[in-house]
Amino acid sequence: MQSEKGFGVARNRAGLVWCSAAAGVLAAGAAWAAVPMPKPRPADAPLVQGEPQSRAEEKNIPAQPAAQQPAVPQPSACRLALTEEIAIAPSQPAITGPGACGGDDIVRLEAVLLADKSRVPLKPAATLRCNMAAAVAQWVRGDVAAIATELGTRVSELDNFDSFDCRGRNRVAGARLSEHGRANALDVRGVKFASGQFVSLTDRATARDVREKILRSVCARFTTVLGPGSDGYHEDHVHLDLAERRGGYRICQWDVWEAMPRIAPLLPALRPDEAPPREVAERTPQAEPVEAAPAMPAQAPAPAAQKPATNELRPSVSDQKAAPSPAKSAEQPAKKKRSARPAQPSPWWDVLNPQSKKGTGVSGAFR
Ligand SMILES: [Zn+2]
Repeated sequence: MQSEKGFGVARNRAGLVWCSAAAGVLAAGAAWAAVPMPKPRPADAPLVQGEPQSRAEEKNIPAQPAAQQPAVPQPSACRLALTEEIAIAPSQPAITGPGACGGDDIVRLEAVLLADKSRVPLKPAATLRCNMAAAVAQWVRGDVAAIATELGTRVSELDNFDSFDCRGRNRVAGARLSEHGRANALDVRGVKFASGQFVSLTDRATARDVREKILRSVCARFTTVLGPGSDGYHEDHVHLDLAERRGGYRICQWDVWEAMPRIAPLLPALRPDEAPPREVAERTPQAEPVEAAPAMPAQAPAPAAQKPATNELRPSVSDQKAAPSPAKSAEQPAKKKRSARPAQPSPWWDVLNPQSKKGTGVSGAFR
């Protein structure tokens, strides 16, 4: 029983302690409410000399190193100017390496917007520095679009043969870093028009004045232009970049070749349909060598349709004499397609290579 009484006293003491603690808290609360507090300092209040500028400084907490703070690069002037009214070119993270490759202010140039709001996509999208992307966009908007308008059409697509690519010049191992490795270059093979026609910049079949206009436009906008005739690496595309050189030196190397003749001048003209029958018949693949072959009667030439294809490989000497001269080719109907021509090497092969006929059958000499 003693133990029960003692326990009851202890419990009462505990209750007393709680009551006095609660009373103390209430009293402190009443005292806090009674003290007038200063108004919070406005955010734009001027700093008082000697006043700590931040809680970190106040508590002598060392400032966080800059490297640990999230880097928020300010948009470049180019980035601010390359709006969605000019190009669809979302910003990309900076490219670092490997080696000296890479760069910052990178964009993914997906399309150029023309003045009429129509889009000219780059196929595929190009990874470029903002300055290079902006130059390409202005070239398409200002020059390519104008050339297309002169031709009565509009540009609908720009071919991207290569943009960012970490490599040496001309893909030569050990060569100096290409501007492609700095995301500062674009290779273009051609443009597509709204008609669906693909216009190659380097194909001789493309009208020469169109190629010359393109040449003048790119050499005015880019500091490096390499095309056919420059170094042997740019016969099927044109390289454009914005490399900076001392004294503002620029390179514009692109030979706009003459258009190829529709008929190669060294080839003889087609044998006219109305030409008289050949005096000497062609040989079959199983024919004997020339020396042993009996001459076929001139009045019974084999019909052309029944001749094996290999028989057409080499015309006889009499054909060479009978073939019209190149000067006469102008009289041939221009609409005659080359595809109508049989698989037949020209007699000038024999003229230029008299050794080729020695000791061989006529049809086997060209293999
Ligand atoms: Zn290139």
